[in-house]
Amino acid sequence: MKTITVHASRIYDVRVGQGLLSGTGETLRALGAGSRVALVSDDNVFPLYGERAEKSLTQAGFTVLRFVFPAGEKSKNLAVYGALLNAMCEAGLSRFDTVAALGGGVVGDLAGFAAATYQRGAGFIQLPTSLLAAVDSSVGGKTAVDLTAGKNQVGAFYQPMAVLCDTDVFATLPEEEVQNGAAEVVKTAMIADAALFETLEREPARVISEETVARCVAVKRDHVEKDERDLGVRMMLNFGHTFGHAVEAVSGYTVPHGRAVAMGMAAVARAAHAMGYCDESVARRLTAMLEKAGLPTALPYSAEDLARAAGTDKKSAGDQVRLIVPRAIGRCDILSVEKSALSDWLKAGGAR
Ligand code: MG
Repeated sequence: MKTITVHASRIYDVRVGQGLLSGTGETLRALGAGSRVALVSDDNVFPLYGERAEKSLTQAGFTVLRFVFPAGEKSKNLAVYGALLNAMCEAGLSRFDTVAALGGGVVGDLAGFAAATYQRGAGFIQLPTSLLAAVDSSVGGKTAVDLTAGKNQVGAFYQPMAVLCDTDVFATLPEEEVQNGAAEVVKTAMIADAALFETLEREPARVISEETVARCVAVKRDHVEKDERDLGVRMMLNFGHTFGHAVEAVSGYTVPHGRAVAMGMAAVARAAHAMGYCDESVARRLTAMLEKAGLPTALPYSAEDLARAAGTDKKSAGDQVRLIVPRAIGRCDILSVEKSALSDWLKAGGAR
């Protein structure tokens, strides 16, 4: 097992290893959590791992409120959020009790925002069951739900008390889920860890070692510790996401996050090379890595449509968009780009 300690507005451990779900109850006991736990999950994940987590909690003496909602981004809304808060209130949870998020990014975002706001802040533990959640969304304290007007438009920074990444669950992930996570792993290596990138180049695709997850968590930890509220260096984690989010929006959210980010990373690397920010080998090695992971690298959308979507992203400010641009494998820069120049960048990246 590996432990990465995060020193943010709350100090907490991220544990990566086999069998950790079965220790959920003990972990919360050791953290001095109250007597009740709202175990939040979706109807894909709960049948697979719910019993493991619930049994651990009840054996450790916790009363468990089970809250399972339909899987998918569509559930990450104010109605489901409100239903969870009401269920917690009716079950008599206090702010000394705990919300446990068992699932991927959607579960973590929704449960985390409920924890952040219930009685002005209850306990919170993340039990990520997707690779994407393990290496990215479960660490760092970003929580949110969607509005009909836009994704993640209401939320809070709220750090968990602990994150338990049980690597046993990654063995049973469907291919699409592995790919989604792999995109964030490649992103992490690209922004901060050239040695990890070289390791991934040597390893066969689909290998998700404890070591790889732990190194991604460590990179995320470093960025969160320097910039918890995402005003500076944490934006580096947005590499590939400016164009990736635009692909998601333009495709009507039919392209999964990881695939969209892969397209975004490949495109911005091609554009960065074309504009003289990096060597040709950077785009070539990144593209090869993404292809090995079964991820797309072409950008089959109109530059105008993508530029419009990227210009309305919530990471944009005024007339500028912060674009994360690769300089080398393992090193990126944050660039302020005029919104009016985005379509040139996108065309240089291969958009129509
Ligand atoms: Mg992402």
